[in-house]
Amino acid sequence: MANDILVLADHLRGQLSDTTLELVGKAKELAGATGGQAVVALLGAPDAAGQISGADTVLTVDHPALADYIPEAWEKTLLHLVNERRPRLVLIANTTIGMDLGAGLSAACGAPLVAYTVRLEADGSDIIAIAQVYGGKLLAEVALSGDRGICTVVAGSFAAPDDSGAGDGAGSPAVEAVPPPAGLDDLRTSFLAMVEPEGGDVDITAAEILVSVGRGIGSQDNLEDVQELADALGAPLSASRPITDAGWLPKTRQVGKSGLKVKPKVYITFGISGAPEHLEGMRDAELIIACNTDGAAPIFDVAHYGTTVDLFDLVPALADKVG
Ligand SMILES: Cc1cc2nc3c(=O)[nH]c(=O)nc-3n(C[C@H](O)[C@H](O)[C@H](O)COP(=O)(O)OP(=O)(O)OC[C@H]3O[C@@H](n4cnc5c(N)ncnc54)[C@H](O)[C@@H]3O)c2cc1C
Repeated sequence: MANDILVLADHLRGQLSDTTLELVGKAKELAGATGGQAVVALLGAPDAAGQISGADTVLTVDHPALADYIPEAWEKTLLHLVNERRPRLVLIANTTIGMDLGAGLSAACGAPLVAYTVRLEADGSDIIAIAQVYGGKLLAEVALSGDRGICTVVAGSFAAPDDSGAGDGAGSPAVEAVPPPAGLDDLRTSFLAMVEPEGGDVDITAAEILVSVGRGIGSQDNLEDVQELADALGAPLSASRPITDAGWLPKTRQVGKSGLKVKPKVYITFGISGAPEHLEGMRDAELIIACNTDGAAPIFDVAHYGTTVDLFDLVPALADKVG
C-alpha cells in the first residue's frame, strides 16, 4: 500500500464537509500518477461512507470515543491506520481539528507535515506541495521525497470530483470496517459537549455583498451609521476580529483566520488595516473596496478600489446616495 494516498474524512457527526470530497478528488489524481489507490479513513461515522464517491476504498473505524472529536482517540486511530497501511501521503483538511491532528500525527509517526497546503502535484516519485506561509503572503514549494508525508489542505484548494467534469467522482468505493485500536476505552480525556453557535444570526458566507468594519470605527455606537449603509445595500455587517472580540458584533460575523472565510461578489471595508489573518478570510472576494485613512495600509494591496477618505465622512455620504 506504499503508494496509496490516505484522506481523513472531515465530518461533523456524520455530515461530510465539501473539503473531504475535494481531497478525495486530488488523492485519486495523485494515486493515479504514483500507482497507488485513493483511500479514505472515516472515523466514528460508518454510515457516512455512502456520501463518499471517487475513492477506491473507505476504511471505517467505529467506536463511541470516535463519534465526536477527542484528539487522543482520533490521533491513536489515525496513527494505527497509518502504521498498518503505510500510505505514501496523508491528506487532512486544514481546519482547527485538522491542524491539531496533522501536527500530532507528524510527531507520532515521524513523517514531515506541510500545513496550509494549497496545491499538490506528483513529480516522479516526489510529491510537490505548495503551501501558504505568513498568512498567505508568500507561497513555499516543498518536495515530499520520503516514503511518508502529511499535508493539511486549505478548503477550496481543489475541485471536488463532481465539479471537475472529469467524471472521476462516479463509482462507489469498497468499504472495509477496520477494528479500532487498543486503548480507546482507556482515554485520559473525554468529550463533554458540543457548543453550537447561537442560532438566528445571518450566514455571512452566503451573502453576495458584505460591509465589513474594523477597529477604525472607534466605538460600538458608531456602528449605527455603517449598519444604515449596509441595510441600504441589502448587505449584512461583517467585521475584523477586534470588533467581535469587543463584543460589538457576534463571533458569527468575524472574517478571517479564526473567523469565517467569505467570497462575496462585493466586500466593502471601513477602518480595516488588512492584517494577514483578516486577508486570509476575504481575499477571494470578487470585488474589494477599501476605506482607510492610511494610504499605506495593506488592505490596499488586495483592494480593487480604495479611498483614504475618513470613514465618518464617507459612510453617511454613501448612505445618502444609496438610501
Ligand atoms: C492567531 C490569530 C488569528 C487571528 N484571526 C483573525 C481573524 O480571523 N480576523 C481578523 O480580522 N483578525 C484576526 N487576527 C487579528 C489580526 O492580526 C489583526 O489584529 C486584526 O485583523 C486587525 O483588525 P483591524 O484591521 O480592524 O484593526 P487595525 O489593524 O487596528 O486597523 C484599523 C485601521 O483603521 C484605519 N482607520 C482608523 N480610523 C479611520 C477612519 N476614521 N477612517 C478610515 N480608516 C480608519 C487605520 O488606518 C487602521 O489601518 C488574528 C490574529 C492572530 C494572532
